[in-house]
Amino acid sequence: AGVSVKEFAELIGQRPADVVRKLMEMGQMVTFNQSINLEAASLIAEEYGAKVEVSTEKAGEALLEEAAQSSGEEHAVPRPPVVTIMGHVDHGKTSLLDAIRQTKVAEGEAGGITQHIGAYMVGVRDKQVTFLDTPGHEAFTAMRARGAKATDIVILVVAADDGVMPQTVEAIHHAKAAGVPLIVAINKVDKPGANVDRVKNALTEHGLVAESWGGDTIMVEVSAKQRTGLDNLLEMILLQAEVLELKADPERMAKGLVIEAKLDRGRGPIATVLVQSGTLHVGDAFVVGNFSGRVRALVTDTGKKTVEAGPSVPVEVIGLPGVPSAGDVFTIVKDERVAREIAQERAMKQRAADLAGPAKVSLDDLFAKIQEGNVKELPIVIKADVQGSAEALAAAVEKMPAGAVKLRVMHTGVGGITETDILLAAASKAIVIGFNIRPEPKAAALAEREGVDVRLYSIIYDALNDIRAAMEGLLEPTL
Ligand code: GDP
Repeated sequence: AGVSVKEFAELIGQRPADVVRKLMEMGQMVTFNQSINLEAASLIAEEYGAKVEVSTEKAGEALLEEAAQSSGEEHAVPRPPVVTIMGHVDHGKTSLLDAIRQTKVAEGEAGGITQHIGAYMVGVRDKQVTFLDTPGHEAFTAMRARGAKATDIVILVVAADDGVMPQTVEAIHHAKAAGVPLIVAINKVDKPGANVDRVKNALTEHGLVAESWGGDTIMVEVSAKQRTGLDNLLEMILLQAEVLELKADPERMAKGLVIEAKLDRGRGPIATVLVQSGTLHVGDAFVVGNFSGRVRALVTDTGKKTVEAGPSVPVEVIGLPGVPSAGDVFTIVKDERVAREIAQERAMKQRAADLAGPAKVSLDDLFAKIQEGNVKELPIVIKADVQGSAEALAAAVEKMPAGAVKLRVMHTGVGGITETDILLAAASKAIVIGFNIRPEPKAAALAEREGVDVRLYSIIYDALNDIRAAMEGLLEPTL
């Protein structure tokens, strides 16, 4: 909360490293992103001929942060888990989403027509589960690259007749990178070629061992087509949710995430917001991205108008002045004036950030970042022309002597560098190494936009050499 050391340094026109040194001299060990306390800030500002003023009429983001701080979790109560379905193409992600929606929503809401608003909720006994409607790890990681965490639990769908495939492995890596627990749904068990044990066996090679085999990964057998095993899957989701102790305070001002947004011809801009804490009401003043406004109406996943939505509930919000982006944070504030101020402040900050360019990690500035204490670990995504090379390179990287940073290979794969690889790297502040392959044109453009460092090699030794040199600050700058 408050002002970070880095922001403070910028405010008084000094280098962050100098401010950190001053703080250290004062006996305070802080990093750039930690907040600076008022006393220290005043002292340092004075030294540089500046003055710290605390506005009682707190403006903008400061007010938001304070609200986030002071709200605490006194009234936190269990909230429904939010689930994303992932898996290889054609393994049944969409079928499973539809099957659960149709059986459960139809049961609970007599005659309720389900709307596609980007997420839906189903009732399981007296509890509820929220499903995000866009399956796949691409959407999941795209959100994460924007700093948004919408998902509590990942359902990994694996077709029993096809087994573990490349995108199954990708999904595992993406869920793991996000630290989100995973439940395996072995689908299509109705098919003649289904072989559940073969799937379980293949998954052990990727660190997922079924509970029935002495591991700790929940695996359930389902058929989206015949709608079997769905209740069991839902029970397991609730079980996992209980372990996670998911909680939120419904009494505070609401905060949520935009999971989908569009311009509707009749109703104007509409965003589906997944409420993450607090309760959202009609009439609330909000900020989302650079927009501000007042909630005019709320519409549920069954197409009904409602006056409020609590934690983990997805609702369509009407009353936006423009269309926000998926992943934008939606925050309720005291009144519309405050909302406007924050939106303006953000627009200004964004312009400044656009000018400054992306701030991700690259091998070129790795050494400087290590020196600043900003980087402790360097995650790496490796793509290669053949599996053998990818594995050899990954093994060699992981064997490199640990210097000031820990190298961690978070994903290896075969084939050209894709947009998904870039998003994963962007979300995890990783670099991408391509061996005997090139990025797809769209991926190259995305890497440029996101500031992801992509390095291409055809000799393993060269790749290792560059990483070592980067860690030691000896890398020749690339042109
Ligand atoms: P997605 O690409 O992962 O979303 O997969 P889809 O849901 O589109 O399913 C791909 C194909 O598998 C479709 O033809 C489905 O009808 C079929 N399918 C999905 N689930 C099952 C199942 O449980 N049993 C059988 N036999 N077919 C299924």
